[in-house]
Amino acid sequence: MKQILVTGGAGFIGSHLCERLVNEGNSVICLDNFYSGSKENIWHLIGHPGFELVRHDVTMPYRVEVDEIYNLACPASPVYYQYDPIQTTKTSVFGTFHMLGLARRTKARLLQASTSEVYGDPVQHPQSEDYWGNVNPIGIRSCYDEGKRCAESLCFDYHRIHGVEVKVIRIFNTYGPRMAEDDGRVVSNFVVQALKGEDLTIYGDGSQTRSFQYISDLVEGMIRMMASPEGFTGPVNLGNPGEFTMLELAEKVLAKVGGKSKIVFKPLPQDDPKMRRPDISLAKKELGWEPKVSLDEGLDEVIDYFRRTLR
Ligand code: NAD
Ligand code: UDP
Repeated sequence: MKQILVTGGAGFIGSHLCERLVNEGNSVICLDNFYSGSKENIWHLIGHPGFELVRHDVTMPYRVEVDEIYNLACPASPVYYQYDPIQTTKTSVFGTFHMLGLARRTKARLLQASTSEVYGDPVQHPQSEDYWGNVNPIGIRSCYDEGKRCAESLCFDYHRIHGVEVKVIRIFNTYGPRMAEDDGRVVSNFVVQALKGEDLTIYGDGSQTRSFQYISDLVEGMIRMMASPEGFTGPVNLGNPGEFTMLELAEKVLAKVGGKSKIVFKPLPQDDPKMRRPDISLAKKELGWEPKVSLDEGLDEVIDYFRRTLR
């Protein structure tokens, strides 16, 4: 039985990860300040002997004995991370710094949840890990993008200088049950709007693309990365290479949900990336991993989830 710390464990991804780790017989400490996550996400785990919930902000140090750390704490939706951008940067930078210190002291492995946002508005397509990105360092997305880039930089310095075993994953747009209803990201927005009979809000002309990965595929990739041989640090892309325009996504959701919703167009937010698709050759080679769930299958699950939970 391993002692595992999951920061951001009450969030969308963290809750699925905690569930899987607890079901595999580990002892899991879920640490969260509930900035964008909620107790509801992990309600079903409370009381399980392998699960412990701690309210804590990773911008402050935290001491515990652990074998592995999954560092996920950080709001991921543009709406949430831009609401308090200074706190977002502090969470990524100070939070990762504190977790790396903890990993160093306890000799734990640390998996860092980085993001495809480190590639910014990419000029290389699809994006492979050796691409350095095209990021606006002073824009409204930079608290998130540069915070995550600095966190990666810290991981590699702790690895080089202190020998900390780091595992850096770059997660591409991920969706699934337990995304918050008001999360603001595109999949949950479209599904919730369609189910409520409201119009679907496309930002810009809808020609921008994203590649959507279902949550179970991501969790499998995270577990494999944590278990990968010593010395494989990443960064490694985890995403589904299927690429869709936002217009295609909206049409898919409308076709599945039915009802009277229409598509409406709203202004495109500043620095919104025009295209995004992962090159996953490295994950295939090093982790034997590739996604299994198609967008159609995943959307059916999310629609079913929101049908059951929408108030
Ligand atoms: P989320 O917002 O649902 O989860 C983040 C969790 O971190 C929340 O529970 C939040 O309360 C917690 N948190 C935020 N600041 C904190 C702090 N200072 N101290 C302690 N806890 C804090 O988002 P998610 O989609 O589950 O994302 C999880 C991680 O994966 C994030 O690091 C995110 O950057 C990364 N990621 C996610 C995606 C995606 O598509 N979902 C893509 C790329 C990277
Ligand atoms: N988007 C949209 N309508 C929405 C929410 C988002 O058209 O209601 C667009 C957004 O402008 C972006 C894409 O969908 O081009 C993905 O947005 P999301 O916030 O999910 O993720 P990110 O931009 O961080 O990839």
